[in-house]
Amino acid sequence: MDYRHHKKYLTGKFKSKQEIIDKLKAEGKDDIYHVLSFGGGTQSAHLLEDHLQGKIHYDYIVFSDTGAEPEFIHRQVKWWKKRQEEIGNNTPFIVTHHMSMHGGLEEMLWRYINTDYQRFQLPLYFSKIDDQGNEIKAGITPRQCTIDFKIIPVKQAIRKKIMEKYGLERHQRFPSNVAIVQDIGFSVDEINRISMWESPQYKYVYMTYPLVEQGMTTKDSIKFLAANGFPGKRSRCYFCPFNCSSNKAIGMDWEEIIRDEPLSFLKACYFDRRLREVIRSGEKRLNSIPYFHYSRQPLKKVFKKEYELATELYGNELNEWLKEWSNYVNHKYIVNKER
Ligand code: SF4
Repeated sequence: MDYRHHKKYLTGKFKSKQEIIDKLKAEGKDDIYHVLSFGGGTQSAHLLEDHLQGKIHYDYIVFSDTGAEPEFIHRQVKWWKKRQEEIGNNTPFIVTHHMSMHGGLEEMLWRYINTDYQRFQLPLYFSKIDDQGNEIKAGITPRQCTIDFKIIPVKQAIRKKIMEKYGLERHQRFPSNVAIVQDIGFSVDEINRISMWESPQYKYVYMTYPLVEQGMTTKDSIKFLAANGFPGKRSRCYFCPFNCSSNKAIGMDWEEIIRDEPLSFLKACYFDRRLREVIRSGEKRLNSIPYFHYSRQPLKKVFKKEYELATELYGNELNEWLKEWSNYVNHKYIVNKER
């Protein structure tokens, strides 16, 4: 598909990288930084490899840890760092995270469930109760997590680097001759995910989508990685509600999490149950019933046998995790607030 015929381009939601750079130069920006927002999965790995092969220039590679990626994604990130070193590429590779919630999305969910925090940042499937008391299918909440836990932390990390480079303090004005062009690894089949090319948070940051410009699909990137013997797991959070069933054939499925990370699957079942409990209790602004699974059934019911087996094998580890988070949230948000 040629992006120039797509409504996102025709309505100005998306511009090509060259168009953006030409515009910035015409505005007198003479110090433009190119950044790869690296997710550790397939499409941004495709861009990273293009960089390592000298086909795309980056000044920084940034991985924002959402705090809920499966271990296999952290292993892939390490694999790519090692490959970068072996090739002798020196582009700074930064790992960052959400500015105030360093524990990422796990922290956000713990905070939401246990405190009066009301900002819900995950896309979940909702049901509502009709007049007869039956549960009926409702909508899905927006994918705010990608913006808050992946895209914004990358911008903040780069802003900090550039401010340091210019010898400026955090509160000072960003240099007016500088712009940041941030490459995002959406594929052409994901073109509908593009909502803007100018950052709403920082007026000197611009978002570009090279795989869309090249007409590359998600499958093209997966094939490219496989053909080169590179790791090819799709990046996402272990509880991502966009996980599907394995018949999707592009690797983002609950079965993969259950098989490779049964403890993470148990954690997802815990959040799934607790969110419904806390929302039903009336303490939250949301009043529909949330589900992590697209069937709008509890995860532990959809994968009953797997849940029982994982509980038998990893129940103790889950309890450890519950204890650690409980202490952390209690200390950070409840005890400190009462002081
Ligand atoms: S992978 Fe899913 S849960 Fe994680 S940030 Fe992206 S949309 Fe949100």
